[in-house]
Amino acid sequence: MKTDTARLYSAKRPSDAQMARFKRFVAQKYGEGMTLEWIESDDAPGGFRLEAGSDVYDWSAEGRVAQLRRKLERIALGGEKVIPLIKETLDAWQPEALAEETGRVISVGDGIVAAEGLDNAEYGEIVLFDCGAKGMIQDLRRDMCGIIVFGDCREISSGSVIRRTRRTAGVPAGNGFLGRIVDALGEPVDGLGEIVPEAYRPIECPAPGIIDRKPVDKPLETGLLVIDALFPIGRGQRELIIGDRQTGKTAIALDTIINQKGKGVVCVYVAIGQKASSVAQLAETLRKKGAMDYTVIVTAGAGESAPRQYVAPYSGCAIAEYFMYTGRDVLIVYDDLSKHAVAYRQLSLLLERAPGREAYPGDVFYLHSRLLERAAHLSDALGGGSMTALPVVETQAGDVAAYIPTNVISITDGQIFLESELFFEGQRPAVNIGLSVSRVGGNAQTRAVKKAVGSLRLDLAQFREMEVFMQFSSDLDETTRRRLMYGQGLMRLLRQPQYKPYSQSDEVILLVSALGRAFEGVPAAAIYDRAAGLLEFMRGEHPEIASEIDRTGELTPGLSRKILAAAKEYGASKA
Ligand code: ATP
Ligand code: MG
Repeated sequence: MKTDTARLYSAKRPSDAQMARFKRFVAQKYGEGMTLEWIESDDAPGGFRLEAGSDVYDWSAEGRVAQLRRKLERIALGGEKVIPLIKETLDAWQPEALAEETGRVISVGDGIVAAEGLDNAEYGEIVLFDCGAKGMIQDLRRDMCGIIVFGDCREISSGSVIRRTRRTAGVPAGNGFLGRIVDALGEPVDGLGEIVPEAYRPIECPAPGIIDRKPVDKPLETGLLVIDALFPIGRGQRELIIGDRQTGKTAIALDTIINQKGKGVVCVYVAIGQKASSVAQLAETLRKKGAMDYTVIVTAGAGESAPRQYVAPYSGCAIAEYFMYTGRDVLIVYDDLSKHAVAYRQLSLLLERAPGREAYPGDVFYLHSRLLERAAHLSDALGGGSMTALPVVETQAGDVAAYIPTNVISITDGQIFLESELFFEGQRPAVNIGLSVSRVGGNAQTRAVKKAVGSLRLDLAQFREMEVFMQFSSDLDETTRRRLMYGQGLMRLLRQPQYKPYSQSDEVILLVSALGRAFEGVPAAAIYDRAAGLLEFMRGEHPEIASEIDRTGELTPGLSRKILAAAKEYGASKA
């Protein structure tokens, strides 16, 4: 929007000397061809406002204060020596002739604004509306741009002024976030007061490169026997939790968070498109279990706009990155990415992008790949921190071949596939052992667990093949019948109620005992109680076994024998 007249607004007519100064300024900035016109207006109380093309210079009292505030904010975010710096700045401060680039709203609706002007705005830049709402540039075209609005858009109307901030979207981060519930922009929503940030991180940040990474080699224990034994997750890994609705997806993530207590892992739970009541309940559960102290919840509920649901996982990731880059281990859960994709589809359609498969825009793969690539195990040079990601995806009628599930499966290092049928049979966690995989595998297990797992996978595979014969059990020979009973017992052992995580030594003891046939003859329905009793017995009578496993992370043949002997002793006492 170029014109050859600059307009000067003020309540009082400027003096001749002032007018001459403004003319000089305009000539300097825009060349001699630009004329200056004074217009009487109440728009710039206590000063002047100059508009030249799409540039606005705000020299009103308010504008000057705002300038100072922005400067102070920049300093405060820089860190330590704040007070001397503030003093220095105050002494040296003068209102600058800073051009503010502006644009105008063409149309607005459903959290999306089409705007003109803003000629030099960049993709991902934050812009401000007159009413105070924030927006993010999400679409750039030749003569207009598309903006997604984070605040209330009811006060935005066509013609409203939009200001550039020259800042890309970011969220505050820091230790103050632990134990808190924040929204997609990092603002607290739990009514516990303001959070003092220690840093400000861009919500979109390039993933660490190959040189910046280390192989994944440390386990992130979920406390769920079926996962830790068969599909171990390593720190820095991305493991998808996938299944139909109400199959226990959130429960697995929640148990994993609870199990990190005392292990030095920071957890971030991102709730996308969920009911506010579910999130409140989840927070309450974490609080009761003492897990909230090391957890941050980022939420963009079902009632919030698509733009907020769209940025929430990136904001959560940015908060998690703060901890990762300070050398901590972080676990982040995205619950769930199907709703995230739906929010993105909604805003893409509103931005008039071409719909592709299942009406998702063409870049929906990149939406999730750039998010999940940010999970990493950092090199020692970068502090050795890690971010483990557990994205959740909901399927329809078990269809893992739909668009979003296949995308996310291909981006992650494995998936835990949950099945309604198993869930209703009572096999909970309802993990389908045949379809689940962890591509990091044994590297993410301690040697003790790896050894204890032994032939479990093979035994379960054999059981699955023979399972169909169960219904003819009366006609089977003794060996087959015993094999079936054994397999069924193993499946029972993998059942685990919520909020009852096993420690590493518990898992080793149970696996060694079960694979050593110590539960032979125990009716399937009683296996869980028998296992719990055994662990109790071990804690009471042989505490040295658990402490040796925890101390060394090893399972020597001698220790194996000791466990088995103790388990049989306990079994005999129950027989
Ligand atoms: P949604 O699709 O609604 O998000 P979901 O797949 O996340 O559901 P959850 O909410 O985790 O499923 O679990 C569904 C129900 O199953 C909950 O009531 C939960 O308490 C119960 N549940 C989950 N895991 C177990 C378990 N291991 N033992 C017993 N109950 C469980
Ligand atoms: Mg859920």
